[in-house]
Amino acid sequence: MASQIKRAFPRKSHKTPILFNDFASDDYMRSKTYNFSKGGMYFRSNVILKPDLHIRIVMINYTPGSYGPEAYKGYMAKIRWCRESSDSIDEEKFGVGVQFLEKSHTEFGKEASTASYMCDLCGDITTLEFIHRTDELDYLCGDCHKHLESFPEGRIKESIKRFMAGNVF
Ligand SMILES: [Zn+2]
Repeated sequence: MASQIKRAFPRKSHKTPILFNDFASDDYMRSKTYNFSKGGMYFRSNVILKPDLHIRIVMINYTPGSYGPEAYKGYMAKIRWCRESSDSIDEEKFGVGVQFLEKSHTEFGKEASTASYMCDLCGDITTLEFIHRTDELDYLCGDCHKHLESFPEGRIKESIKRFMAGNVF
């Protein structure tokens, strides 16, 4: 049972344009994602990106409330791997797998703390200082977090968590 929960999020194929940069400059590079999961995405790059490097990603087709990575405008992510891809269909040479660290309805500036976060339960917008992040990368505002914590471990708490997981892609 425990091993089932630990399994990586299912991946879905989804091609959509993104911008990304490595925080070192304000210039974004253009790319496309090819698939995503709740915890991360795969995209292509012209340049090699070192594992553990932190990047920010902007979803060009940001559509709040939609299903998929465009439900959020900005992500902060960590490079998991980057390797030269053998298929030459695309001009971008490298395939990159990233793990999401933060997601936001605004773009991430150079300071992540300036981004706004939305509570996955009540929809309240708040800042990094007041948001609680679960292991599943769901966000809870202070009130919802306190509320959820007040439930004993058990069925009700599990179904709230399931609701959140289903609510967010
Ligand atoms: Zn809330």
